[in-house]
Amino acid sequence: MRRAIQKLKDSTSEIARLLSREHGKALYDSEGEIAVSIMWMEYACSVVKEVTEKQEIEHDNGRTIITFDPVGVVSAITPWNYPISLSTIKIAPALLTGNTMVLKPSPFAPLAVSRVVEIIASEFPPGVLNLVHGEADVGVELTSNPKVVKIAFTGGTKTAKSIMKAASDTIKKMTLELGGNDAAIVLPSFNVNDSRALRRMVISNFLTAGQICMIAKRVYVHRSIYDKFVEKYIEAANNWIRVGDPFNPNITVGPVNNRNQVKYVKSLVDDAESKGATIIKLGKILNPELMDNGYFLQPTLVLGADYHDPIVVEEQFGPTVPILPFDDEEQVIQLHNESIYGLTSSVWGEEEQAISVARRIEAGTTMINTAAIQGVDVRFPFGGVKQSGVGREYGKEGLKSYVEIHVINIPKNLELPYIPE
Ligand code: NAD
Repeated sequence: MRRAIQKLKDSTSEIARLLSREHGKALYDSEGEIAVSIMWMEYACSVVKEVTEKQEIEHDNGRTIITFDPVGVVSAITPWNYPISLSTIKIAPALLTGNTMVLKPSPFAPLAVSRVVEIIASEFPPGVLNLVHGEADVGVELTSNPKVVKIAFTGGTKTAKSIMKAASDTIKKMTLELGGNDAAIVLPSFNVNDSRALRRMVISNFLTAGQICMIAKRVYVHRSIYDKFVEKYIEAANNWIRVGDPFNPNITVGPVNNRNQVKYVKSLVDDAESKGATIIKLGKILNPELMDNGYFLQPTLVLGADYHDPIVVEEQFGPTVPILPFDDEEQVIQLHNESIYGLTSSVWGEEEQAISVARRIEAGTTMINTAAIQGVDVRFPFGGVKQSGVGREYGKEGLKSYVEIHVINIPKNLELPYIPE
């Protein structure tokens, strides 16, 4: 695995260019995706021994041996938004703990990850890491075939429901990383003049044109600072957002990945507008000649939406975000927690107050004064509560989910006192 990591480092530039070409994300974003993947693979290498080392425990009733064995054949199914990192997040722990894997990437971004799989597979015996391409029907085979013991899936919540059904016949183990409708909560103590914090907020809404599971997809701001916040947010957004050709080094936001996603995001914004919301276009267009020719969408801010409009309660997964006012902590916690999702969330303001709100939030990760990728650390577990997922990736937990625990007990007292002769 370490040799494969070195090869990936050496090929970063080639793979990043391929990823930007097929996906549409800005080149710096593709390079960042590969860098995070490598960071995780290196961490996984550094802790695998600790996670899988056999334990032998001498105790008052004899001896117990605990082994951490491979589960067997793992199916990995991944989405299009972060095809490399969401594949390596599965490949590294599965292979390091001794399993074999068949990976099916999304047909919307299959090329760069194929190159990554080819590189990693070349350092393992034939058949250990395998790649198949295809649509949902291939996914169905991979999630129902009796030879598959575990499914590692990242994608939409609706797809995960079919997968759970397909997998139930043979009771497969699974890790599911699903959709989210992550909220950012801005407390009255947030300093609206902190331009770096506002920039982090904008990035947390619009990186990768908003196509990230853990992007902040709805922003609730305390009414006492709402007007000032919106004014400063628009300023920060206009500074950071520069839309254009992924290979233009001055852009920060590329096009959306596919036609369906463009249509869906537009429909949510149109619906909000038809109900009276104000739509504000954000940022600059650096390549105007491209805008009518493909899947470019200028990022938008939605003001005045209702708390339960689709733009607020659905996962938009694109370059638009609603900002809404709230009046008190109870109300915003309720608005946060009534979602069926619970992937990540963020609280912005004085640190201790933010932590106290964070403690009451239903989410797998809550970040303080930052959000999305900016606040994730590969050394700690990542995953969702409620319909955002099952299990965790990253951290030591991200390796433990690929092993079976086998306990061998050698008791000294062979007879139980309460069982009659
Ligand atoms: P998707 O669910 O449509 O597709 C994901 C993968 O599943 C693809 O490879 C697809 O071909 C395959 N698939 C489709 N139907 C299948 C079936 N019936 N059985 C087996 N496999 C099937 O998701 P998408 O549109 O590619 O990705 C966007 C979604 O992924 C969003 O909801 C996003 O939030 C989620 N996501 C979650 C995380 C996370 O870590 N929680 C990360 C990234 C994306």
